[in-house]
Amino acid sequence: MSVLNEFANYIRKNRQDEVLDKIMEIYHLPDHSILSSQPISINLLHFLKDKLSILLNILEDKNVPSAIENQWDIWFNKSEIEERQKLHEAKLLFSFIYFSKTALVDFIPGFTTDVITAVKIVSDLENVHKQFQNKRYKTFENSSAVMKIELEESEERYKDLFDNAHDLIHFVAPVGKIMYVNKAWQKTLDYSIDEIIGNSIYNFIEDDCLEEFTKYREKILNQYNDEDHIQVSLKKKNGTAVIAEGFVSAKFIAGKAAYTRGIFRDITLRIENEKKLLRINEQLSEREENLLQLVTYAPDAIVAINEQSFITFWNPKAEEVFGWSGSEVMNKPLAEVIIPLIYREAHTKGMNRYLATGEAHVLNKTIEITALNKKGEEFYISLTISKSRQRGEIGFIAFIRDMTIQKKNLLELEQKRKELEASNKELEQYAWLTSHDLREPLRKILTYSDILLTIHKEILPEVVEKNVQKIYQSGKRMGSLVQAILMYSDLSSEQHLFEQVDLNLIIKEVLVDLELLISDAQAFIQVDELITIEAIPLQMRQLFLNLIGNSIKYRQKHIAPYIKISAEEKNGYLEMVLKDNGIGFETKDKDKIFKLFQRFSSHKTEGTGIGLALCKKIVEKHNGFINVESQTGVGSSFFISLPIHKALV
Ligand code: ADP
Repeated sequence: MSVLNEFANYIRKNRQDEVLDKIMEIYHLPDHSILSSQPISINLLHFLKDKLSILLNILEDKNVPSAIENQWDIWFNKSEIEERQKLHEAKLLFSFIYFSKTALVDFIPGFTTDVITAVKIVSDLENVHKQFQNKRYKTFENSSAVMKIELEESEERYKDLFDNAHDLIHFVAPVGKIMYVNKAWQKTLDYSIDEIIGNSIYNFIEDDCLEEFTKYREKILNQYNDEDHIQVSLKKKNGTAVIAEGFVSAKFIAGKAAYTRGIFRDITLRIENEKKLLRINEQLSEREENLLQLVTYAPDAIVAINEQSFITFWNPKAEEVFGWSGSEVMNKPLAEVIIPLIYREAHTKGMNRYLATGEAHVLNKTIEITALNKKGEEFYISLTISKSRQRGEIGFIAFIRDMTIQKKNLLELEQKRKELEASNKELEQYAWLTSHDLREPLRKILTYSDILLTIHKEILPEVVEKNVQKIYQSGKRMGSLVQAILMYSDLSSEQHLFEQVDLNLIIKEVLVDLELLISDAQAFIQVDELITIEAIPLQMRQLFLNLIGNSIKYRQKHIAPYIKISAEEKNGYLEMVLKDNGIGFETKDKDKIFKLFQRFSSHKTEGTGIGLALCKKIVEKHNGFINVESQTGVGSSFFISLPIHKALV
């Protein structure tokens, strides 16, 4: 007799009721709530009693497998038992065997103290349990109806859970036919249930991952359980792809795959966000790289400091400008490295004030200041400081340009300008003095030549008279030159005062002065209504006298001069145009004619070449502008802009 037979016998004779109680106890444990949907009642107790004695008989039987086989057939081959009922019974029986096995194990210590015997009994009981299990699977093998019932049952139990799940859940037959999908699956891919059920799962997989998915599922079906999760692209009805990640596992019945179940999560948004993040990261690092390139190779020295004013960045140009290498100055206080002693306190105060109140005096402005280099030499820099953030903290970036050369050039230029001004003044003074001193001998030349030509006219031989005449003419011309030079030099004098000048009156006076010339030349002069401006009256008079005088002087031979003076106010200036129909000149010469003593030899008319230089000087003294456009044989236009108020400029 085998040990198991003895054990069964022992239980049946001595402990059957206890085993039954134990079974009931295990049956009620929460862990075994798998059968909680079954009615636990008197019926069940009878059922258990019945089956327990049969089971113990089986255990006593020498040929346990065939006994199980027979018994199973008795239980299930009754035609009156419906498929659904069969399944129910099978479940009860199977659980009963499982609980019985567990309960029986509890009684082994009462039966034997021999460990080897105890192990043998446990393994035999385990065997019996397995044989029941196999029998159960075999019974339902290929029974699609039962499988359907089983599915329906699990569906009932889990339907609610599945349908409320956010993940995509499906059950698929081994060949790929979809048996069930939850609401999330349907909603995410946007198909009707009819379009899904019975259709192949592979029809819902995007082409690019179809092969991978097919292989993955085949492995699962072939019981290679080590498969990890998979990412697949599912076809949405509108043609777009849904990226899902999840697992497929297979349900095996009697070693054969009955169906696969999959749980997938829609990660399209996550993937998109990841892609976006990746793109942003790429852009960021690209930008960072560009920025680094920019600051590294910038033509300016770039220095960054943190809130505590310690140096956190020092580009190669800063090394060049200050002589310190980046490693020498990194994390050192900026003040100690480049700020001259006299500015250090102001720098510290400025930083503290900004951090405490946000009040900035130099931020985002370009200032000129001095700095120190490694040798301790002070030199000029131009400095622009802007606020920055460094790892979430406030920092500052300074853009620094070495201004040594510019400053030197500027100083030199200023020196030259002053020298020039002084020498101009000297020259003007000299011109004034000589012109002034020339007047007396000139007056004598003119007086004596006049005496010769009037009083002694009778006794002068004709040829001598002609020469004296020439001396007289030259003297006159020299006189007007001296007069003009004196006037020109006089313009620099600060004595002339600005006052309100009505330009209408000035023009009127000028026209009276030129009355004879105008009538001789039969000139027509048209003047717009002008305004009152702040100016030096005498110089305004001179300006218009010269310009109108020139327009008449340089008239065309057979055409009566027509001069038009128009004016308009613009941006605080009075902009005037004096246009004539005179002989004009070539545009390329337009700058020449404002220079001292510049005259066109083609213009035969007498003159000093000082008139327009005088005009330019007058206009500039009034902080205005003068310009000309001209065309030979057509006429000239002089553009004069004068500030209406002196204070404007
Ligand atoms: P000038 O005493 O010779 O008139 P200006 O300085 O007044 O000296 O003028 C310089 C030169 O510019 C003149 O010699 C003349 O050739 C030219 N010029 C001046 N005004 C006119 C004008 N309205 N039309 C043509 N040429 C002019």
